Amino acid sequence: MSDYISGYYQQSLTDRRDCKVLETHCAVDVCVVGGGLAGLTTARELAIGGKKVVLLEQYKIGWGASGRNGGFVSSGFALGMPALEKRLGFRHAKALYDLSVTGLEYVADRVRDFSDDGLKTGDGWLSVSRHDDENNIRRSTSHMVDAYGAPLRYCDIATVRRELKSKRYFQGCIDSSAFHIHPLNYARRLAEDAQQHGAIVYEQSGVINLFYDGLEWVVETRSGNVVRARDVVMCGSAYLQKVLPKIERAILPVATYVITTIPEPDMLDNIIGYDGCIADTRRAGDYYRKTGNGRLLWGGRISTRRSEPRKLAGLLKKDILSIYPEFGDLKIESAWSGLMGYCVHKMPLIGNLKPGLWVATGFGGHGLNTTAMAGKLIASAIGSGDDQYKLFDPFKAMWGGGVLGRSATQIAYWHMQLKDKWDERRKSKA
Ligand SMILES: Cc1cc2nc3c(=O)[nH]c(=O)nc-3n(C[C@H](O)[C@H](O)[C@H](O)COP(=O)(O)OP(=O)(O)OC[C@H]3O[C@@H](n4cnc5c(N)ncnc54)[C@H](O)[C@@H]3O)c2cc1C
Repeated sequence: MSDYISGYYQQSLTDRRDCKVLETHCAVDVCVVGGGLAGLTTARELAIGGKKVVLLEQYKIGWGASGRNGGFVSSGFALGMPALEKRLGFRHAKALYDLSVTGLEYVADRVRDFSDDGLKTGDGWLSVSRHDDENNIRRSTSHMVDAYGAPLRYCDIATVRRELKSKRYFQGCIDSSAFHIHPLNYARRLAEDAQQHGAIVYEQSGVINLFYDGLEWVVETRSGNVVRARDVVMCGSAYLQKVLPKIERAILPVATYVITTIPEPDMLDNIIGYDGCIADTRRAGDYYRKTGNGRLLWGGRISTRRSEPRKLAGLLKKDILSIYPEFGDLKIESAWSGLMGYCVHKMPLIGNLKPGLWVATGFGGHGLNTTAMAGKLIASAIGSGDDQYKLFDPFKAMWGGGVLGRSATQIAYWHMQLKDKWDERRKSKA
């Protein structure tokens, strides 16, 4: 378990250097737990602000969801703006949306600064409906443009089918601010940059215990070495276990799956013209993109099982062929799964649990921009007392229901799948 999960991202790493392992006790201003994008951005920002920071990762940088995801970077949250607006009212929802855009811009800026070949792999996001849904898509697109200033454009059926050769798709919408990246290379580049700014990053240094000794926080690692810090930021997401029960109980681990095909550039470009992110509008639909080197990267399905389904590659290949039968006998090169951390309210947990104990977690399936946003918010709260993170106060750590919660989530997902199928059958007459 201590190395990267095997698959396309691990095979296409541009830098294979390891970070050090924590081999002594140390005292710092801030200890960050978890080397995913939330922890890395927090550590980088704190180091830039002049704090002495240590980041502890139990395996390798980007080993969790941050190095396994689809690589789609866009504005917004897992909860979706209509639900957020309904719950908090427009003004609060707009303030959160604007923060989510700062996360998107943060990743765009880093990718530009790092200027590595192959880090950014495409621009734009085409979201498509699997049933005839013109009025709804027109209405929601105009609302996001007019009220939120989102750079969205409605696409009719002909436009969608020009880009994607499938009769399964109807209308859609393009977000021109979104883009896609190689997430594992990005995470590692971010770690390197954080170190260049003075953060100390340790791999293979899992945290097993955390307590306050009356003066400062004591973070114990598996090797017995201890980090003492005035502040601790917990960024372990769905992979944190037996360290901070209040947070672990609030996070539901939800698995999702990805495959890549062998390179078939001509066939791929013939069938899928669009080079950006592509996803359908179902509640837990397919998401896919070209990798920039002739492969198709396809993600989909969710489950509350921690283990991978036995015939994962076959399942997703079936999903691809149900949309694009022309792919015929497309060969699958790699397949993997990853865990997303979801809270019951589908919004992240960002804030202060106790004096000096911070949390940035629960980004669900929408973490590439929101982890960057959260890292900045927590770093400026610790560094200068900025309290913007309190905009997330309505979203507290609530018990996710343990095994019962997982079963309920699985049942909710099956219910969503049934509703999606029903919608498709009823409305796919165009
Ligand atoms: C397959 C998949 C596809 C996705 N696609 C997208 C997408 O296209 N776009 C998007 O925006 N989001 C996507 N997401 C979601 C996104 O990847 C996550 O929301 C985001 O990466 C979460 O980052 P994180 O830092 O909070 O958690 P993680 O990346 O999971 O990092 C947590 C880290 O903490 C470490 N850790 C845990 N416990 C300890 C401990 N005790 N001591 C030390 N370290 C510890 C873990 O080893 C891990 O490295 C996807 C997720 C998955 C799984």
